[in-house]
Amino acid sequence: MNATVKTPKPRSRAKQVRTAKNSVLRHWNGPLTQDLALHPGDFGLGKVPARLRPDATTRSVCGFCSTGCSLDIHLQSGVAVNLTPTVNHPVNLGMACPKGWEALTCLSAPDRATQPLLRNSETGDLEPVDWDEAMQIFTLKFRALMDQHGSESVAYLSTGQICTEEMALLGSLWKFGMGALHGDSNTRQCMATSHVAYKQSFGFDAPPYTYADFEESDALVFIGSNLCIAHPILWQRVMRNKRNPEIIVIDPRRTETAMNATQHLALAPKSDITLLYGIANLLIRQNWINRAFIERSTTGFAEFAAFVRSFTPDRVAIATGLTVGQLYRCAKTIGTRQAVSFWWTMGVNQGHESTRTAQAVINLALMTGNIGRPGTGANSITGQCNAMGSRLYANASGLLGGRDFLNSEHRAEVSRVLHIPPENIPAKNSLAYDQILQGIVDGKIKGLWVIATNTAHSWIDSTRATGALDKLEFLAVQDMFTTTDTAKRAHLILPAAGWGEKEGTFINSERRFGHVKKASRAPGYALSDFNIFRLVAEYWGCAAMFSQWTSPQAVFQILKRLSAGKPCDITGIEDYRHLDASGGIQWPFTQMPNAELRMSNESESMDSSSASFGDLSSLLKERRLFADGKFYTLDGKAKFLFDSPRPVGEPTDDQFPFVLLSGRGTSAQWHTNTRTGKSAVLRTLCPANAYAEINPTDAARLGLAANSTVAVVSRRGRIQCSAFITPTVQPGQIFIPMHYGVTNQLTRGEFDPHSRQPSYKHCAVRLEKLA
Ligand code: SF4
Repeated sequence: MNATVKTPKPRSRAKQVRTAKNSVLRHWNGPLTQDLALHPGDFGLGKVPARLRPDATTRSVCGFCSTGCSLDIHLQSGVAVNLTPTVNHPVNLGMACPKGWEALTCLSAPDRATQPLLRNSETGDLEPVDWDEAMQIFTLKFRALMDQHGSESVAYLSTGQICTEEMALLGSLWKFGMGALHGDSNTRQCMATSHVAYKQSFGFDAPPYTYADFEESDALVFIGSNLCIAHPILWQRVMRNKRNPEIIVIDPRRTETAMNATQHLALAPKSDITLLYGIANLLIRQNWINRAFIERSTTGFAEFAAFVRSFTPDRVAIATGLTVGQLYRCAKTIGTRQAVSFWWTMGVNQGHESTRTAQAVINLALMTGNIGRPGTGANSITGQCNAMGSRLYANASGLLGGRDFLNSEHRAEVSRVLHIPPENIPAKNSLAYDQILQGIVDGKIKGLWVIATNTAHSWIDSTRATGALDKLEFLAVQDMFTTTDTAKRAHLILPAAGWGEKEGTFINSERRFGHVKKASRAPGYALSDFNIFRLVAEYWGCAAMFSQWTSPQAVFQILKRLSAGKPCDITGIEDYRHLDASGGIQWPFTQMPNAELRMSNESESMDSSSASFGDLSSLLKERRLFADGKFYTLDGKAKFLFDSPRPVGEPTDDQFPFVLLSGRGTSAQWHTNTRTGKSAVLRTLCPANAYAEINPTDAARLGLAANSTVAVVSRRGRIQCSAFITPTVQPGQIFIPMHYGVTNQLTRGEFDPHSRQPSYKHCAVRLEKLA
């Protein structure tokens, strides 16, 4: 033993243990017994800690994913202190995922934006200003750019996370009031493909299902959907299915959902469209199709049948890496079960030929007559809490209420409903998200307003995206937080209230309008997005055009008028109280008692004209579309649409031999982690830093040890990750969750030609062992 090292005496060591905070023997800062003791919570809440005992509760829809879970928010003297999932709500039946349980936490984060901040051009620092100065600067900058370079020199990028009324006001203000044209939303990243696919195939963007279909299918086919992680409460609905269903998962990875499948088709990345055409061919060859439905309700089947004839089992097996036996078993399940539902999410939507892939899913439902009946449907599951609101009312890629800017009748309808001059409605489409960023790179777009999205983190090929943001002459960012990768680049930050601090509606995946409530005050001088938009209208000088848009509730009445006579008609919904009393209401819900739209397309007839607020039994019904086989196309028939598969833009090669897959990591993480990262609870449920799932065979070949640091390199970037060695990915593939800021430094900007949705699910990378 080294003589210079003194061994502590037993007594002094005991003293250290007694005095050290957080000693292993005793936590001096732990909760007191009085904090742990539970007391009756009232309001049907069971028992709660005394400090969280509410004096009132209110009910709101969750602000993360599109499931639309209902949450009971616990209030003390009007302040939200806790929440629990609503027990009897038709969506979540008393359940919530970790994000929902922690939804209030981020509201008190220290990096909340509490007052407008303006960048000092000399010091480069963001400095506090008041709202008056912020609005003066905002309007001065955007107006100057438009005066000097034209109305197409500015754009906005918004989100599927704000309320429908806010989206409608933003899109209307921007295009009708301010006279600008270009605006898009981060829903381009998740749902643009479903929007276009449905519109082309069904004549309207109309997801046909209701969540009860999860429980009523004999077979469920999940394509590119890790439901267990991405929509955990919907997976619980699958678990309630008492029909012993066949569960087919089509996904390159052995995801948590695939682990629970009866058939996992671990196909080669982006061979999904070939597989779906091959299954269609098998269904036709085996006569496992519904000819009566095809004849009555569809067009284009003969051409489709001729097209898929060349997708023989052998050809498809080679392209997908599956066996012919797997293809037959899958086709037989689809062709012979009575109620088959098809569910897809980002694995389909985020591809280079995503619209035709989604339509290949739709084609399977149409040819087997699996639509409009319980337990069936070609069902796109939405991502964000209000992506569906964005699809109908953002006034970005489509005109309000599912209309088209290019259609003069549609423009005239909107002009009449809103009492605005028809010439204020552009007869031209906006650029899509990627085209807006390209416009910035090309120097054509010089001013950008980013609302509640984090482009610098989430957009594909993020180095290029941040380069574009840095090129802007003026970047205004409206957000809850000052610290997002995008807000850090802003010239002006407009502090916004978050979910829980404002009112409005969301539309969930099954077309259900839900009421979002204000249960907390926004901090400092932060305002709701709705009020910021009204302020902009005031300072721009176009407030008179929006004199009726006085509150979210008033705008909801405007949305009703815009919906009249459309497939998404909601004229039968009275107001927010009606939504509250009903647990949300799915569209369509029209006032017209015998309206063809309503009665022809709903599988469970419901006469809203006779439904009172108290008539909950009928209102709580879950409803699906197309029960009578009539669609929203001019001839009332759904279309078979298809194209030959195209090769991926960046195949693997000797230099970059791995395919990079990206996607959701855990149910505790939401997108760029700006909100979920604020919760200590959620942070314990996921790795703090980026990791790459690597197959053991590849790890052994490259000499990679578990948890060692590796470099992942693409033609666009080089990042470091820890190695997570797991057979859930196939050899030659790696998976990195999208939530980490570095992931999109690798991805490649490739877009579906119809939806312009980015292809996040495929690019070529290599792995490098680091010393
Ligand atoms: Fe919220 Fe979605 Fe979780 Fe439900 S599943 S609690 S809506 S994040």
